Amino acid sequence: MLIRTGIVTQELIEKALPSPERRAQGPYAMIECFQEIPCNPCSISCPFHAILPMEDINELPQLVPELCTGCGICAGVCPGLAIFIIDESKGDEKGLISIPYEFSPLPQKGDVVMAVDREGNPVEEAQVVRVVQSKKIPTPLVTLEVSLSKIHGIRFFQPIKNEEYIGDDRNTNPTTTVEPKDGEEDTLEMADETIACRCEGITLGDIRRLIHEGYTTVDEIKRISRAGMGPCQARTCGPLIAQEIARMTGVPIEEVDPSLHRPPTKSLPLAFFMEDN
Ligand code: SF4
Ligand code: SF4
Repeated sequence: MLIRTGIVTQELIEKALPSPERRAQGPYAMIECFQEIPCNPCSISCPFHAILPMEDINELPQLVPELCTGCGICAGVCPGLAIFIIDESKGDEKGLISIPYEFSPLPQKGDVVMAVDREGNPVEEAQVVRVVQSKKIPTPLVTLEVSLSKIHGIRFFQPIKNEEYIGDDRNTNPTTTVEPKDGEEDTLEMADETIACRCEGITLGDIRRLIHEGYTTVDEIKRISRAGMGPCQARTCGPLIAQEIARMTGVPIEEVDPSLHRPPTKSLPLAFFMEDN
């Protein structure tokens, strides 16, 4: 489910949640990073050592909730936008969620936005109570006041224009196909400049151009662009490329050939091969 859709399962969410006692004490980091990729900015930037050091850079981050102050630094440096700061300790029916937000224009304190769930479905209108960006928090954190009962379902928001929710016409169901019409640009809202493969710096626009040129398998795109050949070995960009092929060609995503994986399936230090393994 996670690999295919990018949507986290309830089981994983529950595993990542601190205990109810800790959640009642004050803000904490909710780390929704469940794929082993070579990445550690959260761990090395936490000034309180609340994210355990990673012996292997592919390890999943482990929060020590008792050490976390909810300062937000990890959320502001996470390139995967996988960390949210949640505060359930206000003592009323409302809670606060700080969401990393990479779009512009940035909302302002006092704005009312539509809080949406992990699949982009609207949940409720919410007020922006804080917007923070600093040297230590390079990705802006937008804090929303939301209903406490809905806080664990809310993970993003959309602007409200003309007092009406404009909706999100990005395709949130990856098994649905969207074919670009003749002479038209792709209809997706995700900009061409969006990075699809972080390891090799390949944009979604690069992928779309290749699909338009007739490269319609993940492996073909990998070989011609190097997308998926970096340290993470297509863990993040592979499903995204398959999804884009499905949308643009009309082939159900189940029928898009996945990328071939050859061992080793995770990055290994050179020392591993030098130690009689
Ligand atoms: S919110 Fe602050 S204290 Fe908590 S894990 Fe992140 S960086 Fe560390
Ligand atoms: S993606 Fe974010 S949460 Fe995951 S390891 Fe990297 S910095 Fe940490």
